[in-house]
Amino acid sequence: MSESLSTVAYLGAAILFILSLGGLSNPETARRGNLLGIVGMTIAVVATVLGPRVTADGIGWIVAAMVVGGAIGLYAARTVQMTQMPELVALMHSLVGLAACLVGFASYIDTSIVFTGAEKAIYEVEIYLGVLIGAVTFSGSVIAFGKLSGKIGGKPMLLPARHWLNLIGGLIVVALCVVFVRAPDIASGMTPLLVMTAIALLFGIHMVMAIGGADMPVVVSMLNSYSGWAAAATGFMLSNDLLIVTGALVGSSGAILSYIMCRAMNRNFLSVIAGGFGTGEGAAPAAAGAQPAGEVQPVSSVETAEMLRGSQSVIIVPGYGMAVAQAQHTVFEITRLLREKGVNVRFAIHPVAGRMPGHMNVLLAEAKVPYDIVLEMDEINDDFPDTDLAMVIGANDIVNPAAEDDPASPIAGMPVLQVWKAKSSIVMKRSMASGYAGVDNPLFYKDNNRMLFGDAKKMLDEVLAALKG
Ligand code: NDP
Repeated sequence: MSESLSTVAYLGAAILFILSLGGLSNPETARRGNLLGIVGMTIAVVATVLGPRVTADGIGWIVAAMVVGGAIGLYAARTVQMTQMPELVALMHSLVGLAACLVGFASYIDTSIVFTGAEKAIYEVEIYLGVLIGAVTFSGSVIAFGKLSGKIGGKPMLLPARHWLNLIGGLIVVALCVVFVRAPDIASGMTPLLVMTAIALLFGIHMVMAIGGADMPVVVSMLNSYSGWAAAATGFMLSNDLLIVTGALVGSSGAILSYIMCRAMNRNFLSVIAGGFGTGEGAAPAAAGAQPAGEVQPVSSVETAEMLRGSQSVIIVPGYGMAVAQAQHTVFEITRLLREKGVNVRFAIHPVAGRMPGHMNVLLAEAKVPYDIVLEMDEINDDFPDTDLAMVIGANDIVNPAAEDDPASPIAGMPVLQVWKAKSSIVMKRSMASGYAGVDNPLFYKDNNRMLFGDAKKMLDEVLAALKG
């Protein structure tokens, strides 16, 4: 393929990626958006493999790598549970970071690339930044994977003087960049590059370890953004325009997502990055005296069905537990039945419900719940006082009134769905265990709240049977 043909193909792929992102911003067009992305990526891969920069000897290696990588990807996509999606995404981000690091080192030791003067300095700064962003993304994403999969505890690890450690690390990295660019040959440049990589890896670990459980959504979207910048840096090192454009698209959309998540959680972006936010600078979550007291009032599935039948308006609040139980299809059946009986059923979606941005929207769309009854928190929060029954399905942190009432709570200040303002509420979960943020929930003890204990899918099946019966 000639140089100009491959440029045209790259341009087409870049346009498809932009259209794909546009499509993904709305559930109704998301499927088409995904398809456009797939077509764009296929064009990009074919144009690169057949492009002018790949020699005939190289194609065999590339095809072999694609077969191995494709097989692993196919296997992971087929076997991964929906609840494991967030950790899989974190793992994928780590691979982008690792790739940027490896490309950086390979570019540096590649003796066929010869630059002099300012060009050499610019090229080396590109390499340095690529390895830096790549290493932070790699180690940060590995820790995020551990936290999301529960292999590492959600509690923030706060080193003493951590801000100073970060600052000193940052200054050393800048100083090493000067040493690296001034190095007369590859051998002497390798030491500052390796030391910086070690610092960047430690920084990534430290940054994510210091994040409190409830702030993880911001970190997930931020690492998404970093992986984009790591890809863009790789594009600069390889002089590949499409990779630069694609990386910038992912990087900036991830940054916008981080901003949206921060706003949704009423968090300051910089405070989250600096670590330890949501912990009151390390203060113990809610003092013992502030723990909610009283008795919870359990309810049976038959009683739940009666309460649903007797309601004019119902708001369903889905959370992580609905994803774990895979209860979305039964939720849809119940919704359909109630709507047929004239009940006004709507869904309230909290921006950080579940374990990844848009988690609940994906599940409800999969179950074919109509989009017009699925509302964002801001659109529906004022409607709870006029609602007969709020039904919370496997959600906890996102409906915790302590976020509003208890300034010492790790989730203080985070806007939540005001379920307790409904005339009555039912919370479905298996036990009194806390949610991801690890805090007790006073909602469970409110007079107008009932608890339906059990696996969400099993209990909803029973509720559905009772409603039909
Ligand atoms: P939570 O983690 O607060 O609560 C989920 C609840 O579901 C648990 O208390 C659990 O209680 C219950 N549950 C688990 N399995 C089942 C089951 N099979 N059947 C019924 N219930 C079940 O989830 P929320 O959605 O309320 O809040 C999300 C939390 O995750 C927030 O703290 C958010 O910050 C964090 N987070 C969000 C991310 C995002 O991007 N959306 C990313 C990373 C973290 P029990 O064990 O008693 O059943």
